[in-house]
Amino acid sequence: MVGGDGLVLTGGAATDAGRVRRLNEDSHVIGAPVYLVADGMGGHAAGERASAAAIAAMSTLVGHEVSPDDVYQRVEAARALVEQIEVGPGREAGTTLSGVVVTQQGGEPYWLVVNVGDSRTYRLADGALEQISVDHSEVQELLDAGDITLAEAPGHPLRNVVTKALGAGGWSDPDYWLLPIGSHDRVLVCSDGLTTELDDLAIAEVLRSEREPQAAAELLVRRAVEAGGRDNVTAVVVDGEQLLDLDATAPRASAVNEAADGDTRPRRPEQGVRR
Ligand code: MN
Repeated sequence: MVGGDGLVLTGGAATDAGRVRRLNEDSHVIGAPVYLVADGMGGHAAGERASAAAIAAMSTLVGHEVSPDDVYQRVEAARALVEQIEVGPGREAGTTLSGVVVTQQGGEPYWLVVNVGDSRTYRLADGALEQISVDHSEVQELLDAGDITLAEAPGHPLRNVVTKALGAGGWSDPDYWLLPIGSHDRVLVCSDGLTTELDDLAIAEVLRSEREPQAAAELLVRRAVEAGGRDNVTAVVVDGEQLLDLDATAPRASAVNEAADGDTRPRRPEQGVRR
């Protein structure tokens, strides 16, 4: 996607059921300006339906100029869809949701990071990997309380217990962060099947060495499966690159074009830049 502000977004994604689970209950979307992962829960295909429903709700933003309010509203719509899923007595479908939607604020592009649950959103900027989202998990709460150390977290028996989700029988406010997009930012969004198998050093090494987002996503998922693949694994990688404005006197384009896959269809005019 090339915005009037000179932003180019290039995304890639990979997913694998892993070595233990039969079903892949993760879902994801990559389509400018939407890059998200959902990890469903509930058993007996409920998780698959929950994550797919959440991603379907968010995918309506693909190809549009999006404001933060649009994202907040779609997340609530996603929650409503998940809550409607019927899975039988005593059980509730639920899903995590994590990732970025690129939004416009005052004519500048921002990563709007959303997170509910224990999927994660990271940013690699100037070679440094930073976890933006904070897990909604029992393990994170133990970490926050100082009851366990960072080294004890990955193998902890409660590592799969999430404290917030869309659906799953509870009201859970998502967390949001609005971050200005740097000149060369790379964002990773992943399900916990990746971070259960690979630590941040191993993740950063792949993100730094693989030039193409698609290659980076595939290598991350392959390494996680090779490392054990105890859960479904999904990785979404998106690069945001701010092009220099070589002709500052030229009028700014109000249309947004897809560049990630060579698709140069103009956006519908009524979706023009909001200021
Ligand atoms: Mn998972």
